[in-house]
Amino acid sequence: MKLSFIGAAHEVTGSCHLLEACNKNILIDCGMEQGPDLYENQEIPVTAGEIDFILLTHAHIDHSGRVPLLCKHGFKGGIVTTFATADLCSIMLRDSAHIQEFEAEWRNRKGKRSGAPLYEPLYTTADAETAIGLLAPCDYNQKITLCDGVEVRFNDMGHLLGSASIEIWVTENDITKKIVFSGDVGNINQPILRNPQKVQSADYVVIESTYGDRTHGEERPDYVGEFTRILRETFLRGGNVVIPSFAVGRTQEMLYFIREIKEKNLIPEFPNFEVYIDSPLAIEATTVFNKNVKSCFDEAAMKLVEQGINPLVFPGLKVAVTSDESKLINFDEKPKVIISASGMCEAGRIRHHLKHNLWRADSTICFVGYQAVGTVGRKLIEGAECVKLFGENITVNAKIESLKGISGHADMNGLLDWLKGFEEKPSRVVVVHGEDTVTERFAWLIEEKIDIPAFAPFSGGCIDLATNTVLSEGVRIPKKAIEKPARARASMVFQRVVAAAKRLMEVVLKNEGLSNKDLAKFETQIHNLADKWDRE
Ligand SMILES: [Zn+2]
Repeated sequence: MKLSFIGAAHEVTGSCHLLEACNKNILIDCGMEQGPDLYENQEIPVTAGEIDFILLTHAHIDHSGRVPLLCKHGFKGGIVTTFATADLCSIMLRDSAHIQEFEAEWRNRKGKRSGAPLYEPLYTTADAETAIGLLAPCDYNQKITLCDGVEVRFNDMGHLLGSASIEIWVTENDITKKIVFSGDVGNINQPILRNPQKVQSADYVVIESTYGDRTHGEERPDYVGEFTRILRETFLRGGNVVIPSFAVGRTQEMLYFIREIKEKNLIPEFPNFEVYIDSPLAIEATTVFNKNVKSCFDEAAMKLVEQGINPLVFPGLKVAVTSDESKLINFDEKPKVIISASGMCEAGRIRHHLKHNLWRADSTICFVGYQAVGTVGRKLIEGAECVKLFGENITVNAKIESLKGISGHADMNGLLDWLKGFEEKPSRVVVVHGEDTVTERFAWLIEEKIDIPAFAPFSGGCIDLATNTVLSEGVRIPKKAIEKPARARASMVFQRVVAAAKRLMEVVLKNEGLSNKDLAKFETQIHNLADKWDRE
C-alpha cells in the first residue's frame, strides 16, 4: 500500500493524490492548477484507464477540474463523493468545459489562416457529461465498501456545500491502515454551513495549509452589522452596491445575510430594496443549495427551514439569466444590490456593472473575497484612481469597501484545532495545498505544537503506508521562471479579449431591426476590425 502526492504539493491548487492498495488505483481529488504555478507536477504514474476510483473532497475546480480530462483519456471507474458535491460538480464541470471549448474556438479561428495546427480544448462538454455520468454519490458519515479491502467515509468539512474529509481504511495481508484526507478545511462561524467535523483516529493525515501561517484575527466579525452599514450608507447616497462574488458559495452566503437584514428591517429607510443575482452559474448553484438543505445546512439555517423560511430567498430578489436581463439592471434607477461574477473582476458580467458604477460617487463596490495580485479587484482595493474596462479608462469615484474576515478556509489555529481532534496521535501528517514556504512552516508548526512527525512533499513524493517509510520526498522542478508569469499574464489579457468579443455579439443581436443603412455601416466597421487583427 502506497500513497503518492501528485498535485498541490508545495502549491495551492491542482490537488491530486494516488493511493495504490489492494490491486486498485484510487485518486483522491483531481484538480486543475489555477493562477501562479511554481513547480512542475509529475505525471500520474498510471494511465487514466488503470484508475479504478476517484474520490472527491469537494467541487471546487482546483479539486475536481481535471476529472473530465481523465474521462477523455479512458477513465471508466466510479467517482465517489457526497450528494451535494455531485450536484455542484454537474454544473461546475459543464461550466469548466464551456470555458475550455470557448478558448479553443477563439484560438482556432485566429490560427486558421496561419496554418497553425488545430488547438484542441483540454476537454469538451461531452467529456464533462461522461464524468457526470460516473458520479456515484453517498451520504455523509456512512462507511461504505469501495472494493475488497478498502472502506471509505465522508465527513462534513464546512468549506463548501457538500465538502468533506475522507477517511479510508485499507487492509492488505491482515494489516489495516487508515488514511484521512482533510480536503479543504472550513472556517468556523460561517453562514449556512456547519463547522468542520472532527475525526477520531488515523494512521496518516493529509492536510491542507492555505492559511497555515496566518490567522483571520481574534474577534468574530459582525458580518450582518457591517454589511448593513455598507448598504445603508450607499442607498442614502442614492447609489448601487455592486458585489463581485464567486458564483458558488460566496453568493449564497451574501443572500443569507441580506435575507436577515430584510427580515429584521435593519435598513428601515429602504425596506423594499432590490437585489439582483447576475450570473447564470450563481443561479444554478443557488438551486443546488436549496436541494441539499437537509444534509448540509447548519443549525441556524435549519431552524429557518423548519419554520418554512427559505434562508436564501426574500422579497425583492431578482435573477438575470440572459444578457438582455443583465443589461436592463442598469436602466433601473433605484438604489439596489447587484451580485455578479467573477469574484476578482477579471471576466464575466461584473465588468459591465463596474463600468456603470465605478464612475459614480454615490455607488459602492463591496469586495467579499480574496483578490489575487494583478487582478482588477486587487487594483481597486489598493486604491487605483482609474481602471481599464472594455478598452475604456474608467475613473474610480465609487466607494470601495471590503467585508473583512469572510473566508471559506480555516486559519492556522483552525487547522491545528482540527488536528488536535484526533484522540490518538496519527503516526504522520503530510502537509499539502499551501504556498511553497507555508507548507514547510506549517509542517514545522505541527511538530512543534502537537508533536506529530510532519512533512511537506514535492510532486512525486510517496510513502509506504504499511511500514511508515517515506520512499521519496518528491522532485522540486521549478517552472521556467521567464516563461510562466508571461504566460499567466497573456492568458488573463486573452480572457478580457474573449469577454469583449462576447459583448460585441450581444450588441449585434440588440441592433436587429436597425435601418439597412446603419446595419451596413456596422457590418463594415466589424469587418474592418476583424481584418485589422486577422492578419497572419
Ligand atoms: Zn476549496
